[in-house]
Amino acid sequence: MCKVIYHPKYGEYDLGAEHPFSPLRVEMVFDLLKELGIQTDIIQPEPVTPEDLEVIHSKNYIEVVEALSKGEKRAEAEAYGFGTQDNPIVLGMTEGARYQVGGTLLGAKLLVENKTHKVLQFGGGFHHAHKSLAAGFCTYNDLALAIKYMTDQGWHVAYLDVDVHHGDGVQEMFYSDENVMTISMHESGEYLFPGTGWLHELGRGMGRSLKLNLPLEPFTEGDSYLEVLEGVVVPALEWFRPDALVIQAGADPHFSDPLADLMLTTHDFEKLYKKIFEIIDNNCKGRALFTLGGGYSITATSRIWTLLFLLLHNIDLPDKLPEKWRKRWQEKLGKPMPKYLHDKIPAYDPIPRKPEIDRHNKELIQRLLDYVAADWL
Ligand SMILES: [Zn+2]
Repeated sequence: MCKVIYHPKYGEYDLGAEHPFSPLRVEMVFDLLKELGIQTDIIQPEPVTPEDLEVIHSKNYIEVVEALSKGEKRAEAEAYGFGTQDNPIVLGMTEGARYQVGGTLLGAKLLVENKTHKVLQFGGGFHHAHKSLAAGFCTYNDLALAIKYMTDQGWHVAYLDVDVHHGDGVQEMFYSDENVMTISMHESGEYLFPGTGWLHELGRGMGRSLKLNLPLEPFTEGDSYLEVLEGVVVPALEWFRPDALVIQAGADPHFSDPLADLMLTTHDFEKLYKKIFEIIDNNCKGRALFTLGGGYSITATSRIWTLLFLLLHNIDLPDKLPEKWRKRWQEKLGKPMPKYLHDKIPAYDPIPRKPEIDRHNKELIQRLLDYVAADWL
């Protein structure tokens, strides 16, 4: 059975009312589940301590971040990525961040201790946080800490990042690590933050051919996206056969996302999640830890993560969304709420460049498989 991890303190990682990384997204999911009459059995994590974070972040970085969070001034703030629009300095920001990291770490522990085979952590996914650099709304890298915990127990771990942005922080921390395979599917860095995640970023030394990147064309649609998943992720994990899969389940590849340009519908997300479940059962010993991530269309993201919850719990998907939920959030956000869990089909007009984009993505699969062929023996 899937265990769900969450703590109300997660909401304290709030970067401001105008900031796209809104805690309301998760609140909307829980509220929707409640209105659908679904029981959520939640495990609350402890926060990690600043010392716990030294496994993945530099001591000085942690010290500076904690000081900034208390309202102290630090000369290194800018060099460490703070004070930008993406990563503003917010009082108390590390409290929520450390609870979220604690949640992802707890998920890893539940798997290692064989308490469960599937975990859904309703937070985390801070894939852009680097050793000594905050970036892309991320401060502490929960994913890296959880993966490191598992490899320290002797596990081989695979990381699948379906957020529309490249999972650069996680990739970098394990670039030479032979025990970790990272796979990131994202909109090409030619068009999107953080500008990395190219095909040739394959890992270094013993980690070579274990770091995979799929920089997709803007306006890639669901069918082409799933073809890439099938063409690369399936053979990669059939070959690597990890002890567990960690999934950063960002919802920002959705077509309505205001920060990116992939074209997935909720129907595509349903197919994507079901395919990932199949991969977990066939090639990852049935063990998986899902975290959240990006997703900036609040009306799409709340539905997509609800979908993930329902599918992980084997609950039949409702068609219509409860009126009470719609009304409440319509008033709170001042924008219309969709009537249905799934997007209407057709959700958008087919784009004229589709054949060209599909062809480009097909070539991507072939080129990547050619690059790693010599190492995947
Ligand atoms: Zn993202």
